[in-house]
Amino acid sequence: MTLNRRTFAIISHPDAGKTTLTEKLLLQGGAIHLAGEVKARGQARRARSDWMKIEQQRGISVTSSVMTFQKDGIVFNLLDTPGHEDFSEDTYRTLTAVDSAIMVIDAAKGIEPQTRKLFEVCRLRSVPIITFVNKVDREGRAAFETIDEVADALALDVCPMNWPVGMGGEFEGLYDFTSGRLSQPSGDSKAFEGKVSTHSSLDATSLDDVLTAAGAARLREEAELAQAGYSEFDLTAFRNGDLTPVYFGSALKEFGVVELITAIAAYAPPPRPQPSSKGEIDPSAKEVTGFIFKVQANMDPQHRDRIAFMRLCSGTFKRGMKLTPSGLGKPVAIHSPILFFAQDREIADSAEPGDIIGIPNHGTLRVGDTLSERNDVRFTGLPNFAPEILRRVVLRDPTKTKQLRKALDDLSEEGVIQVFYPEVGSNWVIGVVGQLQLDVLISRLEAEYKVDAFLEAAPYDTARWLVGSDSALAQFASFNGGNMAKDRDGHPVFMARSAWDVGYQQEKHPDLKFSATKER
Ligand code: GDP
Repeated sequence: MTLNRRTFAIISHPDAGKTTLTEKLLLQGGAIHLAGEVKARGQARRARSDWMKIEQQRGISVTSSVMTFQKDGIVFNLLDTPGHEDFSEDTYRTLTAVDSAIMVIDAAKGIEPQTRKLFEVCRLRSVPIITFVNKVDREGRAAFETIDEVADALALDVCPMNWPVGMGGEFEGLYDFTSGRLSQPSGDSKAFEGKVSTHSSLDATSLDDVLTAAGAARLREEAELAQAGYSEFDLTAFRNGDLTPVYFGSALKEFGVVELITAIAAYAPPPRPQPSSKGEIDPSAKEVTGFIFKVQANMDPQHRDRIAFMRLCSGTFKRGMKLTPSGLGKPVAIHSPILFFAQDREIADSAEPGDIIGIPNHGTLRVGDTLSERNDVRFTGLPNFAPEILRRVVLRDPTKTKQLRKALDDLSEEGVIQVFYPEVGSNWVIGVVGQLQLDVLISRLEAEYKVDAFLEAAPYDTARWLVGSDSALAQFASFNGGNMAKDRDGHPVFMARSAWDVGYQQEKHPDLKFSATKER
């Protein structure tokens, strides 16, 4: 039954409305029975479960949590990508485990930096994207302006699926092009409370009965322009990541939310075949396979328990099943896997491709590991991303070098940080994509490895993996030895002072590839 799974994430810039939309999607899916903030409910939930206690101890949530809900026979797995403050490689990696994404844009602000970054990661894997232009109940920019920005800035074909009749104070409703349904605000809150009328076309006089004269005229004029000016919806183009359907709405006032769920169910792809060392593995393959995209470790030094998050790629997983992790070579029995629901964690008895399973372990499972019933396959395409923050690690007690190396190796395997060993000089450099990872690093060095270290500025801005022939690499090294390092796998890395430096070196050394990602 893999066809009924939709595994997706929401990408957005902080404040665009991801939390609100998540809450409304879960409400529609029946996963939350009480209204209220997802964030607030999260607090209560934390107090209830041991798992969440761990997060509470850490005082931070680095978890991309997994929320599962069902509607009309479809199982939706929503993987949360932590927003601004929590931004880390977890966020990127989570996107390797989804089949589609919803991109939430604030109607007044358009595409913001974080949206763009996350979008680029989706593009890397041709993840299809549904656009949700949020907050139409507020004064925003003209709908055309936002759509054009998506098309131009992201080089995507766009297809408006519905249209707002005015925005902000003039907002009179949302018109759905496919169904001819007009959803309108009602009551003091001006929220969507079920007021819907259906119209045979935009020319139907019935529209004039429910809209103001100005609203009806405006809708007809704009809708005609919009339908003439943009692409028609094309399922193949969408699933290839070339076209994005655009839905206007208001998460807060519940406009466009049902339409969004319907769109995910109807258009977003079921689990896709996954690239592996043995060619693509189809979800319908009998043997169970999956990969770990995230590991959540305990801060408590007494209990080195970890939860590895596995995306199931093929086969039907059953509790107690033995799977072989690619890093280990011998099978492990998965006795207490966890399926994630919005309200609680539950022990899973079985899971299907597209589902996420949490696997408790003691550090045997690593990010990027493949788990399978067959022992000859490895999923590819789980990238490392070029760090955006680089720091030198300095030991306060120089006799702890060995412990530090062990700690850095462990933590980089876990995916908390990346570590680079410079060819020249003795201070190792660590790289992260978000500030939070640095805090996690320092506290874990202390708590788990008893290593007292601090971080200082490194003279580098970013790093690039070098790919090329031995002679090209040797030639590059003869000029740039002082700016070269090895990553934990021994792969050569160019430590760049600036993005400009990367461009400059690339021009001078056209036979080398300066890669911003590296597949694990
Ligand atoms: P996140 O940071 O992306 O998770 O954004 P939140 O969901 O926390 O929303 C940020 C702010 O925007 C909050 O104050 C929300 O109440 C508000 N907000 C979210 N959606 C809407 C909307 O559709 N209309 C309006 N007017 N405000 C919204």
